[in-house]
Amino acid sequence: MGSAATGRARIALEHLTDEELLEFRLCDLPVRIEGTHLEERVAQLHEELEERDLRVRPHVWLSEEWFSPDGVPGFAIPFYLAHPRLMRLERKQVLEVEGGTNRECMGIMRHEAGHALDNAFRFRSRRRWRELFGPFSQPYPESYQPEPTSRDYVLHLGAWYAQAHPAEDFAETFAVWLASPPARWRKRYSGWGALEKLEYVNRLAEGVAGVKPLNRRRDVVRPLSQLTMTLREHYRRKREYYAVGLPSNYDRDLKRVFSAEPRGDGGQTAANFLRRVRRELVQAVAEGTGVHQYTIDQILLKMIDRCKLLRLRLSTPEEQAGRRVLVMLTVQTSNVIHMGYHRIAL
Ligand SMILES: [Zn+2]
Repeated sequence: MGSAATGRARIALEHLTDEELLEFRLCDLPVRIEGTHLEERVAQLHEELEERDLRVRPHVWLSEEWFSPDGVPGFAIPFYLAHPRLMRLERKQVLEVEGGTNRECMGIMRHEAGHALDNAFRFRSRRRWRELFGPFSQPYPESYQPEPTSRDYVLHLGAWYAQAHPAEDFAETFAVWLASPPARWRKRYSGWGALEKLEYVNRLAEGVAGVKPLNRRRDVVRPLSQLTMTLREHYRRKREYYAVGLPSNYDRDLKRVFSAEPRGDGGQTAANFLRRVRRELVQAVAEGTGVHQYTIDQILLKMIDRCKLLRLRLSTPEEQAGRRVLVMLTVQTSNVIHMGYHRIAL
């Protein structure tokens, strides 16, 4: 396909309604990496590896989500990032576009590059690797229960993702190492247990500088062209994935923030108030916790339902109510994480 064909495909997608788009099968989406902003970001990643004399250039392909398959020195990029219309649909369906900004996209790519390099050089088979990060063969959990105050792990992708699995711990540590010069991470992680892991990654990388890896496979796993489910089905599953395990009882908290007393002048209902500040609240809590906005929004929607049923009203100035709800929603979101957060797709 030349650029003219790509241009036509772009125009076609732009003119479809959400309902029309949702009927598309993933394999029929007219998108590819070539010619998009993704190509530049991959080039930037390759440059960063080049600068450190690392001889791995992870290959990339479009699929459902971000992932690097075990044993393959490359990674998949989610299809929605290949077209602005699909990014808009993603936001509408699950409220958040993972990797939608340049900064976030590069952050995830550096993480995936960590997996790719581990696959290329099989670092995980080294004794010191296993001592520092744990057994690679440990099964992936359905969900994980991070310790937010731990200093044994770097903080990179959010939701304390390094704590999900030894392979993720390595990928996160690698991403921090690749993103900044040693002076920066040494200062940032001074006094942390995670610093030892960073120093180890630094030594590992020096050890393989200029070395061609043995594993130079270029195969792809679950490419878009093989995915026959519709976008509607894809998003139904994705929402299910992020909504599991939500606690259901917020009544006590809600009654502390709002009032059940009927007022002469009516006053504003709590449900209306929450609906108005919904987007802002969800974004603020997502920034603070790294939890997916869709998960947080589900909690808030349940709260709004309860507010309606309990006929709660605002009894304090809006600003004060907003502050209290922000704290409550953050606490409830942390509870979800402690019940075992379900975000291990990377
Ligand atoms: Zn990962």
